[in-house]
Amino acid sequence: MAQIPDIKYTKLFINNEFVDAVSKKTFPVENPANGETVAYIAEGDKADVDRAVTAAKAAFARGSKWRSMDASARGMLMHKLADLLMRDIKELAALETLDNGKPYTESLIDIQCSVYVFRYFAGYCDKIHGNTIPSDGNYFALTRKEPVGVVGQVIPWNYPLLMLTWKWGPALAAGCTIVLKPAEQTPLTALATAALTKEAGFPPGVINIIPGYGPTAGAALCSHPDVRKVAFTGSTDIGHKIMEYSAASNLKSVSLELGGKSPLVIMNDADIDEAVEIAFNAIFANHGQNCCAGSRTFVQSGIYDEFVKKATIKAKARKIGNPFEEGVEHGPLIDKLQFEKVLRMIDSGRPQGAKLETGGKQWGSTGYYVEPTVFSNVTDEMTIAKEEIFGPVQSILKFDTLEEVIERANNTPYGLASGIITKNINDAMTYAQAIEAGSVWINCYDAITPQTPFGGYKKSGFGRDLGEDSLKDYLVTKTISIKVPTKN
Ligand code: ADP
Repeated sequence: MAQIPDIKYTKLFINNEFVDAVSKKTFPVENPANGETVAYIAEGDKADVDRAVTAAKAAFARGSKWRSMDASARGMLMHKLADLLMRDIKELAALETLDNGKPYTESLIDIQCSVYVFRYFAGYCDKIHGNTIPSDGNYFALTRKEPVGVVGQVIPWNYPLLMLTWKWGPALAAGCTIVLKPAEQTPLTALATAALTKEAGFPPGVINIIPGYGPTAGAALCSHPDVRKVAFTGSTDIGHKIMEYSAASNLKSVSLELGGKSPLVIMNDADIDEAVEIAFNAIFANHGQNCCAGSRTFVQSGIYDEFVKKATIKAKARKIGNPFEEGVEHGPLIDKLQFEKVLRMIDSGRPQGAKLETGGKQWGSTGYYVEPTVFSNVTDEMTIAKEEIFGPVQSILKFDTLEEVIERANNTPYGLASGIITKNINDAMTYAQAIEAGSVWINCYDAITPQTPFGGYKKSGFGRDLGEDSLKDYLVTKTISIKVPTKN
């Protein structure tokens, strides 16, 4: 069993120092496995955001250490930070599990993936460049790709450290300075990583962290007149608000990675055991608290009954328990609110005609555990097929033809991810081209890598995390035209 970690960092991180909130207020952070408070964290608000933005602005000022540093040296700092994450991987993973409730082995994977993300973007620092352009007239024209400036980043609780690295990676590679607000449920690994950025040698003010609540600290950050860009991952409802903050303040650019109701389509010709496994991981990974969760499992009629049987057996066998215990695959949901919301959604299933195959209730009597739940006979108009549940609930829908399932899969306001399992390349490619989603996974799911862009269509947002595409959101293009006597 992994060790319960010490919590060393509980304050705001501004200008490379851990400091109290101006108000001196704190808020509790709990262990979702038992609901107990594990720490009180400094609660940032507008005054603290102002301080952090001032620090980030100074770090970005003309002639600052950060601005005048070689791009390659920026990359070395990011590699150093990745080294330190690796050095402290066990401690960070334990903090993540304590804070979020995900199994310790999953937390280890999250930290390892965070390291890959930093290393990927570290390599970009000195490879970001503009063009020389054959413009009309007697000009020598070129473009520079410049960092946008101070960026605000607001992230959720489902992958606390990984979401931080998705946001920091491109921002640091581009040369921006950062004020990040972690989710109020999960600030611990962000603060521990802040200490590592100082150790790595990032200049003061380049990275600042303001834990606190959304409507206070989050809103202040997204409304700040000196923040030039906001990157947000969270719910679609708050995504609307982020746009409003931008419109009402300084028209800062915005990128949003929001909710989903992602379809995974399984054709008759699929290897059924493999398909059951992929679909299972697509929905139950991270207890379903995953914006790209495969939350609509569409199964073709020829294999539907057998699929439901096997999917049910698999869900029943999932090991639930203390996330620090070895072998545990399924921990608690993040908090009481989510726990109650997920159970409410589950309760809507049966009266609307879905068949509960397994699960459907709390596991144990303490903590926010919800059993892996499988519904069959799910139809498109049911609440569980339409609304994002963000919990361990597999909804299995039946379809007859590819054309039909494409229509149904697209019939959602969301468009984050999707998958298809088939041996037929024509069906796979017809689907891949027709589906309105930012990611299409063929014969796999959740194939998310640092190199491949990730983001939404429709109400799942815009802008991309990861991959080269993500850098665009943190850069502005400047055109420089130089008069020349004659063209040559
Ligand atoms: P979830 O429902 O998954 O908690 P939210 O969209 O509410 O998703 O939260 C994601 C992040 O957005 C968190 O860091 C949260 O504090 C922040 N947030 C919530 N409300 C606001 C708001 N009004 N303005 C800015 N950030 C917010």
